[in-house]
Amino acid sequence: MKAAQIIEPNKPLKISEIDTPSPTGKQVLIKVKAVGVCHSDLHLWEGGYDTGDGFMKVTDRGVKFPVIPGHEIVGTVSATGDSVVGIKEGDDVLVYPWIGCGTCPTCEKGDTNLCEAPQSLGVFQDGGYAEYSLIPDYKFLAQISGMDLEGAASLACSGLTAYTAVKKAISNSPENILIVGAGGLGLMGVQIAKALCDAKIICADLTDEKLQKAKEMGADHIINT
Ligand SMILES: [Zn+2]
Ligand SMILES: [Zn+2]
Repeated sequence: MKAAQIIEPNKPLKISEIDTPSPTGKQVLIKVKAVGVCHSDLHLWEGGYDTGDGFMKVTDRGVKFPVIPGHEIVGTVSATGDSVVGIKEGDDVLVYPWIGCGTCPTCEKGDTNLCEAPQSLGVFQDGGYAEYSLIPDYKFLAQISGMDLEGAASLACSGLTAYTAVKKAISNSPENILIVGAGGLGLMGVQIAKALCDAKIICADLTDEKLQKAKEMGADHIINT
């Protein structure tokens, strides 16, 4: 299969011909249909990021190059291992990429996204910038047959980020929710808040065009700050 790999930071991705993986056990091979390009893909490609305390190299945090980036993956099941149940060839699926080591106490509690030895797809192991992607366990797949596949690609990344924030914000049933910024995350937040609660949604941004989009997506009030 063809795959785009980061060989080293800040160099063009290399399109390589590599063996198509064969799923065993609980693994699932998916034919990739859509992959989001997330800002964190750019950090990975740049080899690190600076959050204010200096440049943190991704290789110091466990990333090994070459790696196939892309963690916002949607695809169609192409083959399954022997122990896979409930997922079959031809199913359209959304991939949950925040995989942990699977054996530490945090993972055993089910909080694989908080694992200290993360194995996230497209970061610490090969991801979706390829014709096929091998998913380590069918439990990381959500059935999305019938949905717009391209539109669904970022749901397990920016979708979950916004969902977590909105869930916290509505825990005490507020009358109003203020969403600052009508970019990708903010607009996701507007739609999720609209679906989950009756609070009035106020959206603030510096661009009228983005605020108009927020209104179309369900914001009750918009403010150009
Ligand atoms: Zn992402
Ligand atoms: Zn773990």
